[in-house]
Amino acid sequence: MSKSVIIIGASHAAAQTSVSLRQTGWEGEIIVIGDEAALPYHKPPLSKDFLSGDKAMDDIVIRPAEAYETAKIDLKLGVRVGAIDRAEKTILTDAGETLPYDKLVLTTGARVRRLPVPGADLEAVFYLRDSADVLEIKAKAATAKSAVIIGGGYIGLETAASLRKQGLEVTVLEAMPRILQRVTAPEMSTFYKRVHEEEGVNILENVMASEIQKNGDRLQVLTACDKALPADMVIIGIGVIPNIELAEMAGLAVGNGIEVNEFCQTSDPDIYAAGDVTWHYNPIYDRHIRLESVPNATEQGKVVAAHINGVSKPYNSLPWFWSDQFDLKLQIAGLSEGYDDVIIRGDAENSRSFAAYYFKENRFIAVDAVNAPRDFMFGKMCLTKGKGLDKGKLADPSCDLKSCVV
Ligand SMILES: Cc1cc2nc3c(=O)[nH]c(=O)nc-3n(C[C@H](O)[C@H](O)[C@H](O)COP(=O)(O)OP(=O)(O)OC[C@H]3O[C@@H](n4cnc5c(N)ncnc54)[C@H](O)[C@@H]3O)c2cc1C
Repeated sequence: MSKSVIIIGASHAAAQTSVSLRQTGWEGEIIVIGDEAALPYHKPPLSKDFLSGDKAMDDIVIRPAEAYETAKIDLKLGVRVGAIDRAEKTILTDAGETLPYDKLVLTTGARVRRLPVPGADLEAVFYLRDSADVLEIKAKAATAKSAVIIGGGYIGLETAASLRKQGLEVTVLEAMPRILQRVTAPEMSTFYKRVHEEEGVNILENVMASEIQKNGDRLQVLTACDKALPADMVIIGIGVIPNIELAEMAGLAVGNGIEVNEFCQTSDPDIYAAGDVTWHYNPIYDRHIRLESVPNATEQGKVVAAHINGVSKPYNSLPWFWSDQFDLKLQIAGLSEGYDDVIIRGDAENSRSFAAYYFKENRFIAVDAVNAPRDFMFGKMCLTKGKGLDKGKLADPSCDLKSCVV
């Protein structure tokens, strides 16, 4: 009888795992089960081109339906998996179907963190994680004049930029002292605040939303400092939590994500995990991390497929990300968390192009490059190859990048 791989979740990690499995020689069944109705699609455009109307659903699918048919990948969409029976090696869908597996891959990703304040469940209050959410946001934005966005992280700021481009009045509320505080240096936060303000977005930092109320046909967001901010719609973007429950119920080891080894195997060697849901070791940073990034989902998908097909190719990738807001293309290589020094190369105060290089104990650990693709490529190469950088030369834009390597 033909062997079977079942992949739970049908997004970036699943699309890559399934196709790579077939490309690297799996001859048995491949079944992808996802609870979203849409074909696997690119999620990054959701808060960018898809929300602003520059791209439609057809433009963001990862692969057309025929590609899965040709590769004999059975997509079961709009189906939720409710349980895994490891002893029987079966999964159970919420519709009551039991399916056997030889190898199982969990790519269940993450879901939005809910804002625990009264009124967060009112109509015209939205979260943004999948295409269904964005279709609802777009429908409301078509007639709305103003929006309050709660959360000044990348998704909140991208959403602000997309709605502003459509002419809405937009206010961003950030509870911390500065936007992007968790992920960047103060210079980056100041820069993004400046650009958003130049583009007409109202950024309020150190302001906590305490309640959302109905106000006639509109809403108003009350803040802990007693402000009332009226708006036609509210969008909440305060982070995500990994979907670990299936794994946890099945008795797999979980922490801040499903624990996996360098081959993306969970504590059960026949069950793998890939993408946003994994808690994995990164050898470049010598610590366990959970990443919310497409390149990570894709890389881990390839590692899983290779291992199932008998090739042990350990995961060893440099984390990288991007964010698009207005005319700014931010590219990030590495993880800046824990940095103790930052070198700004270029003019962050007046221009829209510069790079922030992060160091920890004089070791170069990450770069944020704004409209500076050369800095991104250079930083990525140095991080991948473990090269050191001369801070003095870096800070001097007249020094060629290559001459900064020590
Ligand atoms: C608005 C937005 C903007 C982003 N921008 C960027 C960006 O610019 N750059 C970048 O690198 N990353 C970005 N990301 C993050 C990126 O989209 C994620 O890293 C990526 O989607 C992770 O893919 P994944 O396959 O691991 O999980 P997910 O995309 O989270 O997919 C998991 C899927 O599994 C489904 N599922 C969960 N449990 C079950 C179950 N029990 N049964 C069936 N199905 C289940 C979920 O519904 C979901 O469809 C963005 C994300 C969002 C939401």
